[in-house]
Amino acid sequence: MINYDENNIFANIINKKLSTEIIMESEHSIAFNDIAPQAPIHILVIPKGKYIKYDDFLNKASKDEVYDFFMLINSLVKINNLENTGYRLIANAGKNGNQEVPHLHFHLLAGQNLGKM
Ligand code: AMP
Repeated sequence: MINYDENNIFANIINKKLSTEIIMESEHSIAFNDIAPQAPIHILVIPKGKYIKYDDFLNKASKDEVYDFFMLINSLVKINNLENTGYRLIANAGKNGNQEVPHLHFHLLAGQNLGKM
């Protein structure tokens, strides 16, 4: 089992050692812009808790944390008026998923036709 890396970039954003502009924050989650956007809208959503990836989160987090996380994504969809135009959610996980930062994050991409996967 892989241990959570306390020094990963997103851990440093959560503990405020690294500054970033927070777009939206809820009790258990935060959202901020990706530093290297791949679309006009490219937001990262992360839980504040120490979860490496999707399965880790679903297996260990409370229902409140999980609900809070997905509702924050839903709020971002609403405030950006993406319900009609559409968007893409991506969560890279582990080695074969080419996950770079070992703290769970969902990419919310939108603002143009994103092409096929
Ligand atoms: P992944 O490959 O799914 O782990 O994606 C990691 C994402 O984090 C990449 O899209 C990076 O551009 C993004 N990223 C890395 N460092 C920062 C940072 N300091 N602030 C915002 N986004 C970052």
